[in-house]
Amino acid sequence: MKILTFNFPALMGVNCYLVYDEETKEGVVVDAGRGFKEISAKAEESGIKINKVLLTHGHFDHVMDAGKWRAAGVKIYIHSLDLALMESGGAPDGFFGGAPRFKSCADGILADGDEINVGNVKIKVIHTPGHTPGSVCYLTDGALFSGDTLFCGSFGRVDFPGGSASEMRDSLKKLFALPDKESVAVYPGHEEQTNLGYEALHNPGNYCL
Ligand SMILES: [Zn+2]
Repeated sequence: MKILTFNFPALMGVNCYLVYDEETKEGVVVDAGRGFKEISAKAEESGIKINKVLLTHGHFDHVMDAGKWRAAGVKIYIHSLDLALMESGGAPDGFFGGAPRFKSCADGILADGDEINVGNVKIKVIHTPGHTPGSVCYLTDGALFSGDTLFCGSFGRVDFPGGSASEMRDSLKKLFALPDKESVAVYPGHEEQTNLGYEALHNPGNYCL
């Protein structure tokens, strides 16, 4: 399995990831705030076939390019509890000063424990509400895509509509209880990578929620 990171400083520094099986050349994209052009160009150049976009949650900075992927025949997946948020534009009413600018649809609805196959790579869905009700993390071989739930040395905001400090605390506990966490690299929705074992010991979510 190989992971390529695409960072977009102009869109709140959001990260999108291309994850693919080096043998079968099948791939998925994690989050779609930006990157349709850059990631599809990279995939084409490397002979990677992207079948799915897996969204960590429905906020606009993670879903704005979902419609472009969909128009290109790629299926969009999101947890059921964030579907309405994504469909309404990914931000509270009036956030953009009027009608939502980025309406998107999903093709697949995810639930906790679902498994997604990408060639020989298995990706497990972990429901981690707190930042939004339908936030999820995706766990695969030695990698956790943590969206806006877990960051390097911090965690996602819980003060947006649908956010919950107590749910965030439970979600972080769930992540920090994963087996072999010292060998799990964390790929967050913003900022730099970290290690799950390190965060389980040092993340402020352990004591300030
Ligand atoms: Zn968010």
